[in-house]
This record gives sequence, C-alpha cells and structure tokens, in this order.
Amino acid sequence: MTKEMGLIMKYISTRGNQQELQSAEAIIAGIAADGGLFVPTSLPNLEAGFIENLIDLTYQERAQKVLAKFLVDYTAEELEKCVNNAYGDANFDSPAVAPTVNFGKENSVLELWHGPTSAFKDMALQLLPQLMSTALQKTGEKAEIVILVATSGDTGKAALEGFKDVEQIRIMVFYPQDGVSQIQRLQMVSQKGSNVAVVAVNGNFDDAQTGVKNIFSDKAFNTELNTKGFQLSSANSINWGRLVPQIVYYFSSYADLLKNNKIKNGDKVNFVVPTGNFGNILAGYYAKTMGLPINKLICASNANNVLTDFLKTGTYNKKRAFYKTNTPSMDILISSNLERLLYHIGGGDRAQVKEWMTALNTNGEYSVNKTYVDKIQEAFWADWASDEQTAAKIKEVYDQYNYIVDTHTAVAWEVADRYKLKTGDNRPNIIVSTASPYKFNESVLKALDATKVVNTDEFKMLDELEKLNATKVPAGLSSLRNAEILHSKQCVKEDMAVTVKKLLY
Ligand SMILES: *Cc1c(COP(=O)(O)O)cnc(C)c1O
Repeated sequence: MTKEMGLIMKYISTRGNQQELQSAEAIIAGIAADGGLFVPTSLPNLEAGFIENLIDLTYQERAQKVLAKFLVDYTAEELEKCVNNAYGDANFDSPAVAPTVNFGKENSVLELWHGPTSAFKDMALQLLPQLMSTALQKTGEKAEIVILVATSGDTGKAALEGFKDVEQIRIMVFYPQDGVSQIQRLQMVSQKGSNVAVVAVNGNFDDAQTGVKNIFSDKAFNTELNTKGFQLSSANSINWGRLVPQIVYYFSSYADLLKNNKIKNGDKVNFVVPTGNFGNILAGYYAKTMGLPINKLICASNANNVLTDFLKTGTYNKKRAFYKTNTPSMDILISSNLERLLYHIGGGDRAQVKEWMTALNTNGEYSVNKTYVDKIQEAFWADWASDEQTAAKIKEVYDQYNYIVDTHTAVAWEVADRYKLKTGDNRPNIIVSTASPYKFNESVLKALDATKVVNTDEFKMLDELEKLNATKVPAGLSSLRNAEILHSKQCVKEDMAVTVKKLLY
C-alpha cells in the first residue's frame, strides 16, 4: 500500500453521516457526535513480509509498524516518540513489554499485565495520552480536554496513571461504589496528579458507563463546557486511540511464536480472550482482517454471558440478571465495542447499526440476521465459565505448571480447554492474560488454598500469595500499603453531569 493510498484512510461514525475525520481528530473527540463510535473507512492490507519483519524487532518497533497502518496522519517520528514514552522500562517491568509464555505444546499465555497498574488496560492507556497529546499539537486544538472515564475497576487506575500531569488534559474517573475490589479502589483513591479526580457512583458499572455516555451525547451540556474552554473526551475503549494500541500485541505475540519456532509463518492460531466490553477481542478482529493468521477469536465470558448468547444465536439481550462474579472486570451487560464489529461485518451499513443500537437502548435487545451470524461465527467462537469453574482452573493450572493466573485469565483458560475438547481443533491456543494474579488476590488465594484466606486484609493476602508464586508482588501494588487516600468524592448516578461541572468551575 502506498503512502498516498494510506492517507485515504479516515474515520467515521458507526451510526450516521458525520464528516470524515483524521485519526488525530477522532482520538481527541473520543466518541462521535451522533453517539456512534469512530471506525476506519478502510482496513489496511499488509505488504508481503510484514509479519516476518516483526520477528527481530522490539515491542516498541513492532508497535510503530502496526500503528502506522491506522494512524496515517501521524509521522513516523511522532509515532516513535509516542511508543517510546509509553512502553519504556520506567513503565513496564518486562523488557518484552507483552511477553508470550509457552506451556506445553498447545497453550501459550500472552501476558498483558507488566505495566504500572498490573492489568492489560495499561497496554492502551500508557499510549493513548501520548497519542492524544500529539493530536492536540497536530490539530492546534486550544480547548482543555476533559477525559471522562467510567470504570469497572482496571480502566480507571490505568487511565489515571496514563493521563496524570499530561498538559492540557484533565481526567475524571467514575467507579461503581461496590463494584470494584479493595485493591482497585485503593489504587484509584490514592492517585496523585494535579489534573485528576476520582468519584464513587452509587450503581453498577453499566450505570456509570451509561452516565458517561449520556454526558457525551448531551448537546447543551457540551456547548456549555465549550464556552468555558473545555472539551470532553473519552479514554474508555470506545475511543479509537484506546483500541488501536491493542492491535499491536496480537501481531507481537504471533511474531514471538515464530521467533521461538513454535509455529511456521502462515500457521493459524487461536486467541482466547476474557471479554467484557469487547475491546480487547475486537482489536484481535482488526488484526485478523489485516491478514494476521488467526483461525478463531475465542470470546470467554463469565456468568454475565450476554456475548456468549449473542455470538451463538445473533440475539443480543441485556434484559437479564446482573451477577457480581470473581471476574469483576467482565461484569458487563452492554459491550460497547460490539457496535464496531457490526459495522464491519455489515460492510459499513450505518443505518442498520443505528437501528440496532436504538433497539438496544429502547427495548434492551436486538437480533441480527443470518448473514451477520454466519460471518461472525466464521471469526468467533464463544463460551463462558462460572465462578466455580474459574477457581478450579486456577488450581488446576497451578498444580500442572506451577504458574498462577488471575481469575479473568482462568476464564479464558477454561474456555480454551473446552474449545479444544468440543471442536477437536489442535491449533495453538494463545490465552490472553489480562491481569496479574496479585490484582485479584482474594479470589486467587481462595482458589489455591482457602485456608489462607483467614481475614479480608488484602495486604496479608498479597503476602500469602507471594509465598506460593514465582514472581514478586508488583511495585505498584505493594506501595499501596502506605498510600494516602486523596479522593473521597461520591455522587448518585443521576448527578454525574453536575459533578463534572462542579469539578471544573
Ligand atoms: C478490562 C478487562 C477485561 C475485559 O476487556 P474488554 O476489552 O473490556 O473486553 C478483562 N480482564 C481484565 C483484567 C480487564 O481489566
């Protein structure tokens, strides 16, 4: 693909006729004015040799090559600076950044939790602020950007770490009061930085996310903020700048398997992804459509298995019980990024996407037609694991490999094994590991040895877990022991917009 052709790639809303934007503009905006998500107008093709050429590169260099396919309005120098700032050893405790660890012949684990907050959100949220900051310079945008984040736990801290003290940007994080772990809460309420705010919302994650979405689509409110010199943006995975960094590690993991002679170039692999908002796995779908040899993207859910049902039947129905599980980062009933998949599956039929998203909003459900279902099932396979199955898998993996996985990763591992059993597919499964086990220490410890959970002090449990684990407690978590609480704001879910205003002026 020539540079000129590359420049043709622009970004449009999944839902309507908003004008085409450059990627820098789409990253600043976050969400489209009509409530849709930005998607690229065309998908890049890989030139021959693209994947082999990644083998001997660092993660940063691989990232630069993959990002350049989508962020065509950024110069090579800009991208180089962004990835070096994001993925340096000041932020990541593995020089490989996202290493792939092999277990036996058939299973590999892609560890995405070596960043500052010990969860995979760092992969995107260390880079997004760099991309956004560069975008502000490129576009000459003068407004102060206000990042609003709704979090089920991990995004909030990762976004705060990424955006803290970034010039011309403020960040406000809303988390469900009773929907995050003690460690997750501590990570957020102890956040330093002159431009950060952290607020507890009385509701679940979907309440917080709906609140943020409503603020984004409230035209009068946005106009009022604009006149005061502020512009809202998003660091949730609805922002294209959140999604695009995640495409990189699918390529990087494949390149690592090539490098270690686990596969030959062109061999197809499966990625098994513990899924909530459908951001991580959608990045895998972009990699697959670009030509990365992926056989199936396996969507692993917990008891909130709305995606399992959708991928199996074509009906998305959010009208169901909401469960609090031992995988809280996947306790989600509205998976926002599915909208982008529908756009691409339907060849860009925006009226259709809009109709379904409206139906979801008003009736709580929609059904796609058979053509969509068939195309989706070509690329995806889905199943879910209960809390009990998840705990049993943690124990089983530990007994077999002396390796400790977190609950979310265990969901993926359980579904990976089931996939193999049900389909007989013996291609390598790459299990996408989204959090350090220390981040969900209570559930993990309970799974390994319930007698160790003698009280609910999270730090005692960190110590107990460390005794069983080959790797140490990450610095970002052990430092929380003495962390000062800096944020104690609360609001009811109806008052989120008012809270934003109060924090700004
Ligand atoms: C966010 C998160 C997920 C879900 O990722 P999505 O992109 O929302 O599908 C899974 N596991 C962990 C640990 C997470 O933090």
